[in-house]
Amino acid sequence: MLYLDNSATTKVLQEVLDEMIPYISDFYGNPSSLYYEQALKAKEAISVARHRVAEFINCDDDEVIFTSGATESNNFVLKGYSHANRKKGNHIIVSSIEHSCIINTSKFLEECGYEVTYLPVNSNGFVELSELKKAIRDDTIIVSIMWANNELGSINNIKDISEYCHSKGICFHTDATQYAGKGKIDLKEYSCIDFLSMSGHKFYGPKGIGIVFVRKDENGLYPDITPLIHGGEQEFGLRSGTLPVHQIVGIGKAAEIANIKLDENIKLLKKYEKQFIERMKSVFGDKVKINNDFENKIPGLVSVRLKGFNNQLFLKQASSIISASTGSACSNSKPSYVLKACGYTDEEIRETIRFSLSAYGDYNKFKEIE
Ligand code: PMP
Repeated sequence: MLYLDNSATTKVLQEVLDEMIPYISDFYGNPSSLYYEQALKAKEAISVARHRVAEFINCDDDEVIFTSGATESNNFVLKGYSHANRKKGNHIIVSSIEHSCIINTSKFLEECGYEVTYLPVNSNGFVELSELKKAIRDDTIIVSIMWANNELGSINNIKDISEYCHSKGICFHTDATQYAGKGKIDLKEYSCIDFLSMSGHKFYGPKGIGIVFVRKDENGLYPDITPLIHGGEQEFGLRSGTLPVHQIVGIGKAAEIANIKLDENIKLLKKYEKQFIERMKSVFGDKVKINNDFENKIPGLVSVRLKGFNNQLFLKQASSIISASTGSACSNSKPSYVLKACGYTDEEIRETIRFSLSAYGDYNKFKEIE
């Protein structure tokens, strides 16, 4: 079996698993407890993990807030910031090809009385700065544009976009779930990103754990944002709930490895991707059409049109040898709104398959699979 669905989720690395297990079996104390050794061990492990994540994205440790994943992080930022800043304005901007957790949160906010603009994208899945400029209004409070798209892998020009938002006094959030581990994230350099979301399971860590980066101001204060989850005020009062220590240890270790291996993994993914495309072409000839723009794309994600093939039938028939998907695993049953927004016809969408590779994959099997 060849697993080619790493944009949906990745396998947890053995080193990550090895570090997690003692925090389930031995050090299971509640890290908020103050007095006993076992809880202090858990607390210390959380500090180490927070620091590793902070190093991965180059920010301060207390700007890393643990959540249950990017879905929660995205919900928190959009709902929490809009709620706390309603007096400043009522208008939100997102791109039309955001993940469903941004799109559906935006729809919910529309029901709550906010106005949302869904920015169009060009045929390669990029947000044009000119479109953002047209959409910004005096009452715009937050803009959310994904760093890399989950179906095409297209990488947005987040630096220019975030700097433009700040020049207009508007807060900027980016969903970096697909970008993390595939490109450098430096939040000291990208100083106009106010919030950023990620999920551990997209870079060889466990599921059910993510982070939201929340930038503090020059006085060390957090921005006005209402928590999504109220309770015991863990995570600097921004996200309550007993911390899942083993999951946090897992995302911390995965972030540490992703940081060390970033350049090597990018190189490997590019190599595997090239081999993969060559193989596809050698088998399917001119029926293969690659949808991606290779200039600005995360490595390892290939969106392929197989002319004359129905993607769902193809994947079902090949399911005993390969795992891949037609697009986002979260909206698999519907035709892709991402490709639609890029101008693809229904037929082109039905022919499209997303193959996503792993930097740790055993791709000697390509030949066998042929
Ligand atoms: N954003 C993007 C771009 C994604 O690809 C995903 C995962 N498919 C998410 C957010 C949500 O991540 P999770 O399901 O881990 O919460």
